Amino acid sequence: MMDGITIDVARLPLLLTELRLPTIAKLWPQFTEQADREGWPAARLLTTLAELELAERAQRRIQRHLIEARLLPGKTLDTFDFSAVPMVSKPQIMALAAGDSWLDKGANILLFGPSGCGKSHLASALGTALVETGYRVLFTRTTDLVQRLQTARQSLALEATIDKLDKYHLIALDDLCYVRKDQAETSVLFELIAARYERRSLLVTANQPFGDWTSVFPDASMTLAAVDRLIHHAIILEMNVESYRRRSATSRQRQRAMQPSDSERDNNSVIASAPQTKEKEPSET
Ligand code: ADP
Ligand code: MG
Repeated sequence: MMDGITIDVARLPLLLTELRLPTIAKLWPQFTEQADREGWPAARLLTTLAELELAERAQRRIQRHLIEARLLPGKTLDTFDFSAVPMVSKPQIMALAAGDSWLDKGANILLFGPSGCGKSHLASALGTALVETGYRVLFTRTTDLVQRLQTARQSLALEATIDKLDKYHLIALDDLCYVRKDQAETSVLFELIAARYERRSLLVTANQPFGDWTSVFPDASMTLAAVDRLIHHAIILEMNVESYRRRSATSRQRQRAMQPSDSERDNNSVIASAPQTKEKEPSET
């Protein structure tokens, strides 16, 4: 079987590069040395190296998918404060973050709430968790994607472009309501929603209820058709809380006002007077 093959161990790095096995190329000296020292059976050494190559390959794939997903840096589930949105159930979000059945049937997630309530953060956090689980995600401002689809339509490539987006198990359309039908023809957005219906999932964030979506789509009947398809299989989360930005700014101000050190209180009349000024502010609740 080995007729005509010369075994030259010095060629191993070259062979591994040729076979595109970078992890084995990196680790074989260490593991062959250990195997020799500890008398491993040859099959154990081969299996170990193959497993390591496969594990690193999966890691590299996830890294690639994290880059292509264009998620918001740092906006993950770890940094999301669930206590700020009591109407959103953490166990439910954790279950959604694992993917599985809702992505398999192309169900959608719709996040509603005023500006600053954490919609984009939560969308990005779910996206990050899903990519880490092995799914492919694209996070985009809706206006950006609409523009891309319009360009595709102009060059008669709308269908092909929408087909290509099928590789993403989830597309997160951030700020759907920022799309304006008068900006340009937005039926491309409807085409995308219709094409993915019951097959591939969408996550939509919106600061306006469905009733106001007529400003997004060309006419009322298309708005209805789009909403119908989006909500047929959907998890709808209402995040009706005050802006997190504003709340954290207010509480930072409060903390600064409430925590002058003893020496400051004794020695510095300007700082000592700060709590009094702050107490005059209207309560935020
Ligand atoms: P929206 O998209 O609803 O306008 P964002 O997701 O952009 O709001 O949130 C505004 C800012 O507040 C971001 O910096 C975000 O990370 C932060 N934020 C909002 N909600 C939370 C939360 N529950 N926990 C941690 N940070 C939050
Ligand atoms: Mg946002």
